[in-house]
Amino acid sequence: MTTTDTRIAFIRGQFVPLAEAVIPVMDRGFLFGDGVYEVTAVIEGRLVDDTPHLARLARSLAEIDIPNPFAAPEWTAIEKELMRRNGLRNGLIYIQVTRGVAERAFAYADGLAPTVVLFPQFQPVQYSPLTKTGARIITLPDQRWTRCDIKSTSLLAQVMAKHAVSQAGAHEAWMTRGDQITEGASSTAYIVTAGGDVITRDLSPAVLPGITRQTILKIARARGLTIVERPFTRAEALAATEAFYTSASTIAIPVATIDGHPIGDREPGPVFQDLYAAYMRDLMDLPEAWPAEDGHG
Ligand code: PLP
Repeated sequence: MTTTDTRIAFIRGQFVPLAEAVIPVMDRGFLFGDGVYEVTAVIEGRLVDDTPHLARLARSLAEIDIPNPFAAPEWTAIEKELMRRNGLRNGLIYIQVTRGVAERAFAYADGLAPTVVLFPQFQPVQYSPLTKTGARIITLPDQRWTRCDIKSTSLLAQVMAKHAVSQAGAHEAWMTRGDQITEGASSTAYIVTAGGDVITRDLSPAVLPGITRQTILKIARARGLTIVERPFTRAEALAATEAFYTSASTIAIPVATIDGHPIGDREPGPVFQDLYAAYMRDLMDLPEAWPAEDGHG
């Protein structure tokens, strides 16, 4: 962020210039990472998978006993207004809700007013060059806590993992517990077996229930693919004919190498290509966030 940042954010109930937005130091999100977040993609003016993202936000909040400040239609109205004010057609909407401001103490009192922050990120989501070249993955130990199903803003393990990724000149980390892969540092991991089955880890507190995962699996089932939701090992991943990962901020990316070992023939495989194309086609059926006559269509 720079002082030339012209983005508009929604902070504590108001739309304000992001460069001028402030949060009190005593906010529990700042002091304890006591909060949750969501990231939703905007593609060609469409808010992607908005309903399930807001449902997961509601669940994350409920799991940590923070009252949800808005009903889903209110959240969507704020997101759309944020898009309109920023002219956001392609990028991401970041939402964060913390428990609020209070004197520093681990235990919290009831009745705190949650802090709500939304801002846009202008970064291309679709058609990443990696969809053509494939990504380089490194594996490293999953150092997170035991409630990875909550989309917590306490992200120290992922910060460390992503730094290792950048030091290695790679694109993503797949994290391991024992010999099993849990998920990507910020994505859901999949492999394709020689028989054509798509394997991804079953939902449990060990992984974040990915929203893109939900949509991709629905598309995969509709296309007659066999989906097996179970843990898989690093050795299975190295032997896979294809591997890929999904997230709201990347949609889907094929894997070229894992720890330097080529996956399949390193090229984006047919299962990935078919699912990715189907996802992008379905997306264009979504309505745009505001009518074309507003001048943004
Ligand atoms: N797993 C983790 C740990 C993540 O951080 C993310 C996204 O940030 C995902 C999976 C993918 O989830 P989604 O598809 O909802 O973006």
